[in-house]
Amino acid sequence: MSNWQDDAANHLVLNAGPRLAMLTRGEGSYLWDADGNRLLDFLAGIAVTSLGHAHPVFVEAVSRQAATLAHVSNYFATPPQLALAARLKRLAGAGIDGRVFFSNSGAEANEAAFKLARLHGGAEKPRIIALENGFHGRTMGSLAMTAKASMRAPFEPMPGGVEHIPATIEALEAAIDDRVAAVIVEPIQGEAGVVELPEGYLAAARSLTLKHGALLIVDEIQTGAGRTGAWFGFSHEGITPDAITLAKGIGGGFPIGALVTYGAASDLFTPGSHGSTFGGNPLATAVADAVLAEIENAGLVENAARRGEELREIIAGIDSPLIDGIRGRGLLVGVALAAPVAGAVVAAAQERGLIVNAANPETVRIAPALTIGDAELAEFRELFTVALADVSASLTTSGKAPA
Ligand SMILES: *Cc1c(COP(=O)(O)O)cnc(C)c1O
Repeated sequence: MSNWQDDAANHLVLNAGPRLAMLTRGEGSYLWDADGNRLLDFLAGIAVTSLGHAHPVFVEAVSRQAATLAHVSNYFATPPQLALAARLKRLAGAGIDGRVFFSNSGAEANEAAFKLARLHGGAEKPRIIALENGFHGRTMGSLAMTAKASMRAPFEPMPGGVEHIPATIEALEAAIDDRVAAVIVEPIQGEAGVVELPEGYLAAARSLTLKHGALLIVDEIQTGAGRTGAWFGFSHEGITPDAITLAKGIGGGFPIGALVTYGAASDLFTPGSHGSTFGGNPLATAVADAVLAEIENAGLVENAARRGEELREIIAGIDSPLIDGIRGRGLLVGVALAAPVAGAVVAAAQERGLIVNAANPETVRIAPALTIGDAELAEFRELFTVALADVSASLTTSGKAPA
């Protein structure tokens, strides 16, 4: 007799722990598991399903484009590809000089950014600066820029030249020189537990990189597409980067990534220097274009800002000794815990019918669809409150009082 846990354990590569549930259907901010249980989804596939599940705009775009033209290769252009490129340039303020490279994932967008940095730096500028606790993906180039040594160690040697420095303006001032090709940062470090950059960091990084002829690359894979209550994380800071990378929320659940370049950085790739068979295919780009159009038309960036404030108020109003702080912006929120029990909180929440995520043992990450309203927030308040109480009670009975 097989069940889904056994099937997952027997068939899937052992790169992840046991799956948390077998999910079979979604609608809006709700998911259903194989036993018919309904779950309120406040993770959205890690900040991916920006319109929620099975949104009519998403369904229509997938169906219409699949029935029209799905793939042709990059020997050819297609209308959805050009429409999405133009939309991304406009939303990202990339100007007429801006250009877009399409990939199929975030890691691939960062691979393209890594190659952009190499093309810019050449032999004179071999250094690439990334931040401690930063996450940029799991392919070799993006992994080299990812900070966590334990993720990189089994796969050494890494592509060379990448250094990780603390996320302070002083550390960047001390580290940067004319041999730096690029500085890559996340506006909010999502995987690190929703950790914001220090006040003024992006502006300082912009002036330091300009001074030393280095590219400023902003990884907007988790923070982009309206998630933080602005179109991109850097939009809050009023700077213009040299490149941004995108994925997750721009496709609303359809796999797609992108590198958007600005100004002179747009002239670095030349024919033959990079490519992707699937990247920029009409199916993925039609869906992302429709998702971003819906985010624009339905005012979902504004909704993320407003609902994000309400979400913070709700969490701040929960009387639990486990809550130690709230980080993040818009609908990318990290709840700092007073004890390393994020895994237990996530399990208790799921038991009660709520999906949230343990970004690390001390942080619960919350990233719902940008479409949430009063009903979802009220239900979240109720379920998250009882989940925290469940964990507090079990800590008390086991004699381990939270710190
Ligand atoms: C998720 C993420 C990535 C990697 O994206 P994949 O699509 O998983 O390859 C890179 N950078 C950041 C900031 C991310 O959040």
